[in-house]
Amino acid sequence: MEKSGILAQSNGLIERLKRHRWTIGLAGSVSALGMAAAIAVAPPDDDVTGVKTIVEQLALQGIQPLSLGQGSFLREERIQRGDTVGNILSRLGVHEPEAVEFIRTSPETRAMHQQLAPGKVVVARTSENGELHNLYFPLNGKDAALAVERQGGRLTARETALRFETQVVMKSAAIHSSLFGATDAAGIPDGIATQMAEIFSGDIDFHRDLRKNDRFTVVYEMHYLSGQPARSGRILAAEFVNNGKSYRAVGFEQGGQSTYYTPEGKSLRKAFLRSPLEFSRVTSGFAMRFHPVLQEWRAHKGVDYGAPSGTKVRATADGVVDFAGRQGGYGNLVIIRHSGNYSTAYGHLRGFGAGVKKGSRVAQGSTIGYVGQTGWATGPHLHYEFRINSQQVNPLALNLPTSIPLEPSQLARFKTQATPLLAHLDLLRNADLAALD
Ligand SMILES: [Zn+2]
Repeated sequence: MEKSGILAQSNGLIERLKRHRWTIGLAGSVSALGMAAAIAVAPPDDDVTGVKTIVEQLALQGIQPLSLGQGSFLREERIQRGDTVGNILSRLGVHEPEAVEFIRTSPETRAMHQQLAPGKVVVARTSENGELHNLYFPLNGKDAALAVERQGGRLTARETALRFETQVVMKSAAIHSSLFGATDAAGIPDGIATQMAEIFSGDIDFHRDLRKNDRFTVVYEMHYLSGQPARSGRILAAEFVNNGKSYRAVGFEQGGQSTYYTPEGKSLRKAFLRSPLEFSRVTSGFAMRFHPVLQEWRAHKGVDYGAPSGTKVRATADGVVDFAGRQGGYGNLVIIRHSGNYSTAYGHLRGFGAGVKKGSRVAQGSTIGYVGQTGWATGPHLHYEFRINSQQVNPLALNLPTSIPLEPSQLARFKTQATPLLAHLDLLRNADLAALD
């Protein structure tokens, strides 16, 4: 019984994939290598049976400009406790005095000031200079948003039904300065950039490992509101080529959750994360991105991550806290013991995560402290050590084991889902090569 339930669900996904009407647009303005394709999909429905199938063949339909990625930026921001409308606008990159003034003072935007619920996601599209194109603020208790838009040069605000239309978008870009530089240029929302960093976090340290001319292709869902990109959805598949090595990820839906696997069906989740810092626009801008690591490692047996004071530090693997306190030059230090003879150490912390003390259990990715400059530190940074039998080793040179393969019983179903997605990745890879000829 359970099995057939899972099967119906997977068919739902496959049908959704099959229903894509494909239009591939090469956005030549992005960069020589960057290009993008938008795939239009029938609006989502609640039909889980997926019986009415419209299978359409993959077809290239000429050049179409994208609504996003031509000097226009889409940003999503989650409201935090204590936020004001002013600092949300600034995080969204809205820097146009007229728009800020309109949202601050217009009676039509009052709901924004009254409903700043933490966790709510506000979306804005702006020009390169921070002029507001449109902004969507979800309203409490209904399927509606306050839409601030520009009509005939004037800003207006109105309530609009949140009727999203989902499209699958496929984009590819090369990294010239930073990951966010590349995603901005290609018009990829921050939510997708960080999801991508998360998916590959067992293989790539996005603070340290990125190289000039690394490149990626990503296939993801984008939700549109009144024809405008409103918010990003899930990544369906992605490829990241780091330092000449290709990593591929395909999402596999199980119980309403996407887990990511290699095309062969091996989990991308590893025993250890490559980086103890969560990747974000802020941390990516802070550290040196293309770093000659080895010399530095020999000097002090750890890896330093420059990051703003207060940045969350996460446990790179499940484990038990062995030490949390002050220790000489390390300042505030956390040491976590992991299975095998592995342990990790995190130094110069400003403070410790909630409940982090000797003997407490921590899960991979959980916050164990905050970046600071306690101990012998000249500026805010995290000093990270990887130890085997209490001896420091260079984590960046380490080839760590693991990754759990899919059960043979699930592998066939995974392959069925993965095949069309991998075809999408191949399509863009080949399109890239063609553009370079
Ligand atoms: Zn250090």
